[in-house]
Amino acid sequence: MKSGLSFVCPTSVSPWGTYLSQVDRVTPYLGELARWVETLKHPKRALIVDVPIELDDGTVAHYEGYRVQHNLSRGPGKGGVRFHPDVTLEEVMALSAWMTVKCAAVNLPYGGAKGGIRVDPRKLSHKELERLTRRYTSEIGAIIGPQQDIPAPDVNTNAKIMAWMMDTYSINRGATATGVVTGKPIHLGGSLGRVRATGRGVFVTGREASRRLGLELGDARVAVQGFGNVGSVAAELFAAAGAKIVAVQDHSGTLVNERGFDVAHLQDFSAKYGGIDGFKEGDRIDGEAFWDVRADILIPAALEGQLTADRARRITSKIVLEGANGPTLPQADDVLADRGVWVIPDVICNAGGVTVSYFEWVQDFSSFFWSEDEINQRLDRIILGALDQIWAKADEHKIPLRTATYAVACERILAARQERGLYP
Ligand code: GLU
Repeated sequence: MKSGLSFVCPTSVSPWGTYLSQVDRVTPYLGELARWVETLKHPKRALIVDVPIELDDGTVAHYEGYRVQHNLSRGPGKGGVRFHPDVTLEEVMALSAWMTVKCAAVNLPYGGAKGGIRVDPRKLSHKELERLTRRYTSEIGAIIGPQQDIPAPDVNTNAKIMAWMMDTYSINRGATATGVVTGKPIHLGGSLGRVRATGRGVFVTGREASRRLGLELGDARVAVQGFGNVGSVAAELFAAAGAKIVAVQDHSGTLVNERGFDVAHLQDFSAKYGGIDGFKEGDRIDGEAFWDVRADILIPAALEGQLTADRARRITSKIVLEGANGPTLPQADDVLADRGVWVIPDVICNAGGVTVSYFEWVQDFSSFFWSEDEINQRLDRIILGALDQIWAKADEHKIPLRTATYAVACERILAARQERGLYP
């Protein structure tokens, strides 16, 4: 898991270190294409930008922003933009690499990219957030575009922010370019079903995994970490299928409810108060105790590196659905495999979002928009088809689903790399 890159020093818990170890694990299954595997360990392009803005009190603040294009062998870069106080270049590199693998796993014609700004958006006013987004978009404007690299929402970014990005890029180019970002508002070329697509994909892969493993959703206990766009929609869909959401954790606190949460109530509360803390229909427990709550399905849908080896030893779930990107450390993967826990890896489990982003991009180009039913049907077909292929690969080689997903995806990426060849 040596990086070969001078500016990162991967440790076993860093996101880039996690990614490199995932690539190392798939290499024995790549056959002749293993010749090209180093390509996956080197991001194609990484841009660091200074984002200065005037705050409402008249002072000037500087934020550090990034856009990394990890691999463009299969098409334009694709991936979200994250606003978070802990964002680093190294994290964005890992997130961009996971986008490369994700797009290939579900066979979308994209490479992988990701962006971010190291900022706590909760501390900015609406106007400050707009200035930050617009200046960042201008700074990365040279490398994004509908045919080059297409940003989208991620942690702490949403349709409103995508509208500002689209508008800024369009003003700078002198023409409206709706296809430069996805996850836009519906009346600006956004797609029906996009907001709920990631949570829907988590549910659809989870329902299929449960079916294959003989777990009745009607009796299932579900624990969800992260109650944002991904976790809250997945929780809602599992509850609608009869499962009990027995534990929820977010940045504000951890709640349990033996009878199962009323997810709609919790969503309303969280939207109003900016978190789940204070919700009366549940008992507050210590954050670390979340991992000990008895559950059949665990959905880490927050940030990277949450499922450590120690936590992996304690969980009681049979299925882990990775709604977040990179929530499981490699050592935890080993523990889970030993314990017979099935992990549906992020690069397929949360691929619903980028799949509907692809639909949005296609709809923008053809200026012809589909119904929500059509979108959901196509989404389910793509995700379930990909999962079927991955499960067959896992059975064939007797390997965990993550390695199998990487095998399917990396074959596609490296075959494209080989066909294109090196230049000059
Ligand atoms: N941020 C989402 C992800 O991690 C969506 C990316 C996109 O739609 O391009 O998959």
